[in-house]
Amino acid sequence: MDLPNVEGYLSPDDVQSITNWGNGWAWLAGGTWLFSEPQPYLKVLVDTQHLGWSEIEIQKNYLIIGATCPLIKLLEYSWSSEWIAVEGLKSAVSALAASLKVINVATVGGNICLALSVGTLAPIMVALDASYEIWNLKGESRQVAAKDFQIGSRQTILHPGEILRRVIIPLSNLTWQINYQRFSIAVTDPALAIVVSARNNQKLRCVIAASVAAPRLLEFDKIELSETQFTALLTNENFIEDARASANYRREIIIVLFRRCLQQLKCQNYNF
Ligand SMILES: Cc1cc2nc3c(=O)[nH]c(=O)nc-3n(C[C@H](O)[C@H](O)[C@H](O)COP(=O)(O)OP(=O)(O)OC[C@H]3O[C@@H](n4cnc5c(N)ncnc54)[C@H](O)[C@@H]3O)c2cc1C
Repeated sequence: MDLPNVEGYLSPDDVQSITNWGNGWAWLAGGTWLFSEPQPYLKVLVDTQHLGWSEIEIQKNYLIIGATCPLIKLLEYSWSSEWIAVEGLKSAVSALAASLKVINVATVGGNICLALSVGTLAPIMVALDASYEIWNLKGESRQVAAKDFQIGSRQTILHPGEILRRVIIPLSNLTWQINYQRFSIAVTDPALAIVVSARNNQKLRCVIAASVAAPRLLEFDKIELSETQFTALLTNENFIEDARASANYRREIIIVLFRRCLQQLKCQNYNF
């Protein structure tokens, strides 16, 4: 896709070397979205490819995923077998498997920052209680919980010039049981509903996505939850209503996916 209004391209090796962020500037990661459709507002692309950030590393008690890590690396990394929740990360990437080309090039940061309502990674990051480290151009950083990052469809809390640097997940959370459910009419269609459930021996975290503008966390201080209790909580949710599906339909699908999640979590042979 040509981007006819783009008049500048930068490829810094250090974020702080960018001093004059302006209107129409955008970070370029894998480019799978940016080059997929016209972006008439874009004037300058700032490539993240040469920032030299590590992809996946373990630091103390945390899993750190660099924003520039290609999605495919989440499938290929040699994960410890005790981190059973990694299956959820892999499911999220596989949900995009309809396009192998995309997962080879698209990045973790690009997927999260694009903030599509159908975004595949955000719900799992919220379920795993991940944090995001954000940098500004002065080199200052702040951390925000994944659940607070996306505030709507294509909307995040990033300020102009800010960049998602890395995703941080406590290793202990990777031992949680997790289940990722996604529904679309055809496999290659965008999701109509996503439910990700995570549980340890004390609590259940359930994230609903794709049927709402941004992932929503429902957290319970117990691991047994009836479908009736879950359904009651959905009353206040603002389900998307559009040509692809009604709000009522999306809510009903979320309930079905939630039921499947719980069935899977109970079936898995794991000691609590
Ligand atoms: C036809 C099509 C269908 C798709 N369907 C789905 C789908 O169903 N579910 C889904 O999850 N995704 C879907 N995608 C999106 C796909 O996953 C994205 O293209 C990809 O995740 C974006 O990653 P990227 O690294 O290529 O980002 P880019 O295309 O380079 O960038 C995407 C956006 O993120 C910003 N950005 C990138 N990195 C950072 C960063 N570190 N900090 C701040 N901002 C940043 C860019 O400025 C840009 O606005 C679809 C894409 C296409 C083309």
